Amino acid sequence: MRMNTDALVLRVTDTGESDRLVTLLTSEYGVLRAFANRAKKINSRMHGATQSFCYGDFSVYKSRDSYIIDDAVAKEVFFGLREDIEKLALSQYFCALAAELVPEMEPARDYLRVILNSMHLLEKQRRSNNFLKAVTELKFMVFSGFMPDLTCCSECGKEPSGEIYFNIYDGCIHCKGCGGGERINSTVLTAMRHVCANPIEKIYSFSLPIEDEKRFAGVCEKFLLAQTGKRFKTLEFYKSLF
Ligand SMILES: [Zn+2]
Repeated sequence: MRMNTDALVLRVTDTGESDRLVTLLTSEYGVLRAFANRAKKINSRMHGATQSFCYGDFSVYKSRDSYIIDDAVAKEVFFGLREDIEKLALSQYFCALAAELVPEMEPARDYLRVILNSMHLLEKQRRSNNFLKAVTELKFMVFSGFMPDLTCCSECGKEPSGEIYFNIYDGCIHCKGCGGGERINSTVLTAMRHVCANPIEKIYSFSLPIEDEKRFAGVCEKFLLAQTGKRFKTLEFYKSLF
């Protein structure tokens, strides 16, 4: 079986003298771990295309119990992300999230579009790190089946205003009277609703004051960690930089 797909390189592990094991986020087949033989050789056609953060076209075939990349052509390499330790660390976290959340052998176009958009905006410094981190985390949660219920207070059914609480464990919001959860406000709630409800091309098109942006980032991260029950070393490293 031969698979031709565009993909982003999430992770690269050196194996042996000249080979690489590459974790790909493909648009057609989800997360795929495949060997790139002789890819470490500088004169290999695949050398450039099988490095971290490279987006390109890949040709992969199945050989017994493993996948082999037999051709790869880079389309975008995101070099700018390696020049800044915070951007590098955040991109590595995005890649770790995709590797963890995206199923194997299922189309993953939406995940790929979000991560590519976020990495592009991060590289060009079009939006803040906090903003991109929160949007990516929350949209990934929606794709993974952890859609929060942000319609109204889950206890009394009222539209909350002023002091609002978000429960990271059940993904519901509560008004001030019903209480319980992480404290947010209407600006953060509007941001969360925007990301959850809109198609990918619109999820980056809003902004919020810096203090609210921090709160938005904090609550999206806590929600993701609570729902997945995972620890991410890449996230811990990113946070250790501050
Ligand atoms: Zn209530």
